Amino acid sequence: MEQVVIIGGGPAGYTAALYAARANLSPVVLTGSTIGGQLSLTSEIENFPGFPESLGGMDLMDRMRQQAERFGAVMKYEEVTSVDFDPGAHRIRTDQGEYTAKTVVISTGSSPRLLDVPGEDTFFGRGVSTCATCDGAFYRDRKVAVVGGGDSAMEEGLFLTRFASQVWIIHRRHELRASRIMQERALEHPKITFLWGSVVDEVLGEAAGVTGVRVRELETDRVDDLDAEGLFIAIGHTPNTALFEGKLDVDEQGYILTDRRQHTSVPGVFAGGDVQDHVYRQAVTAAGTGCAAAMEAEKYIAENGG
Ligand SMILES: Cc1cc2nc3c(=O)[nH]c(=O)nc-3n(C[C@H](O)[C@H](O)[C@H](O)COP(=O)(O)OP(=O)(O)OC[C@H]3O[C@@H](n4cnc5c(N)ncnc54)[C@H](O)[C@@H]3O)c2cc1C
Repeated sequence: MEQVVIIGGGPAGYTAALYAARANLSPVVLTGSTIGGQLSLTSEIENFPGFPESLGGMDLMDRMRQQAERFGAVMKYEEVTSVDFDPGAHRIRTDQGEYTAKTVVISTGSSPRLLDVPGEDTFFGRGVSTCATCDGAFYRDRKVAVVGGGDSAMEEGLFLTRFASQVWIIHRRHELRASRIMQERALEHPKITFLWGSVVDEVLGEAAGVTGVRVRELETDRVDDLDAEGLFIAIGHTPNTALFEGKLDVDEQGYILTDRRQHTSVPGVFAGGDVQDHVYRQAVTAAGTGCAAAMEAEKYIAENGG
């Protein structure tokens, strides 16, 4: 029986592992296939505190892993295939074996929804982004495009106006889903131009990154190439919670519901990071809630006869 099994090897999972390891709980981390989580997909991190010179996403995640391992966390590069939560002896099955644990920390993150168009994969992290807070500052005095019509697309677009010289918002419909206040701000902004009833057909680029975005107007099939150097996709995220369906409480979008101390609806099961946060979605907030989840797991074990 493990004291703590952590599902997910991103900033939340590795931070939970560091805290659980330093509490002498020998945590087992099941990383799944994206070792290091979403940050391992990006080249430069400028907003993780403590690294004034910025550093590569993979580098940051390697350091977090090493720090957790130094205190006894055990990394297993296994994918969880099913769980059965039973307070006292939670069972976690993976593609390689089975674990029983007194406590579980879930930190499986979320996946940005993508467009599935040519060039998107090739230039992901090199001009194609799903996070303006993360990458907006790289586009000072450059032109960028945003895809989407909800609040997050308006937020991304407005945030990008602080840096970019021009922001196109590409939306497949003729009206926005965003709240009235966000719509008004975006519609009135002098740097933002809306392309209504339009979709992205292709992301254009060369070795250095994105050089343009091919846009098609749905009614006329007219195609235009925007000379944007960045494309921000803001069409939503899907929390990685399929595994937990019917096993603990989630909100209407599938995010795990936690209380303010990272407890889920099942005793002894905690969650941290983007899997329970559709608002901030940052490495540092994921690390923070991962830390809290591990500290609550430690307390739970102490109170329930560790
Ligand atoms: C391109 C890009 C750039 C970004 N840049 C920044 C930035 O500059 N600064 C910033 O603060 N944030 C940035 N972010 C956001 C940041 O990456 C996330 O907020 C953060 O990674 C969330 O951490 P997490 O630990 O909750 O989840 P994730 O990092 O998503 O990690 C989830 C983990 O769960 C694992 N997992 C999923 N399913 C299973 C399963 N069934 N079994 C086992 N394991 C599983 C995955 O393999 C992965 O290891 C960026 C995101 C992207 C996509």
